[in-house]
Amino acid sequence: MMKKGSLIVISGFSGVGKGTVVKRLVSDYGYDLSISATTRAPREGEVHGREYFFMDRGEFENLIDYGGFIEWTQYVENYYGTPKKYVEESLNQGRDIILEIEVMGAMHIKEQYPDALLIFIAAPSIRSLKDRLAGRGTENEATIIKRLKKATEEAADMDKYDYIVINDDLDMCVSKVNSVIESYACRCNNNLQFIQNIKDELKRI
Ligand code: ADP
Ligand code: 5GP
Repeated sequence: MMKKGSLIVISGFSGVGKGTVVKRLVSDYGYDLSISATTRAPREGEVHGREYFFMDRGEFENLIDYGGFIEWTQYVENYYGTPKKYVEESLNQGRDIILEIEVMGAMHIKEQYPDALLIFIAAPSIRSLKDRLAGRGTENEATIIKRLKKATEEAADMDKYDYIVINDDLDMCVSKVNSVIESYACRCNNNLQFIQNIKDELKRI
């Protein structure tokens, strides 16, 4: 029997650098990444089908009614959701898949997939978080304030994650997140079929 893939959820406050970290995990280590749908407008350089599937509210609501999302949420006035099809296909084919989603979505995933690995990326300080968010230059002042307020709400659930990794030096952070994922894959609980196979083989000697 083929081992099912693992769901890896990565969250963190807006501007912490999780998008940057996830891109590196994909390019350096070849992880599979779920592309979310959103009603937010594309930022400069973002491409439909690469960063997100950009859609209007009507299209998004149709997909909700159709049962097309594993989870979806509203975050600072926009919808965001994880399309079901690609994730289920990856898991059934034994591939691990990364979901880069906010905290409410992560909690919904944990309910549906209790074996999911939840990793929270944090900034070394809130000062550096503000600087990164402003430095990215993609949101206006009012939206930055809304996103920082959202961080206060999200902080309430930080301790529900399995691991927290600080994104101070980017390379170090990427390497640590990869180590966490690799260690998780080695947990006995995630290798029960392999253990059973060894036992069966020993019986046959
Ligand atoms: P998020 O996806 O969490 O909202 P981004 O990946 O867009 O955040 O990163 C926000 C900004 O911070 C970007 O300008 C990015 O280049 C920068 N950044 C990411 N990681 C680091 C880091 N380790 N140190 C300094 N700046 C970083
Ligand atoms: P951004 O607008 O900065 O790309 O994303 C805003 C927030 O939405 C981030 O915390 C990001 O992780 C989260 N997000 C992106 N896609 C999804 C998704 O499919 N579901 C949920 N619940 N959150 C998402």
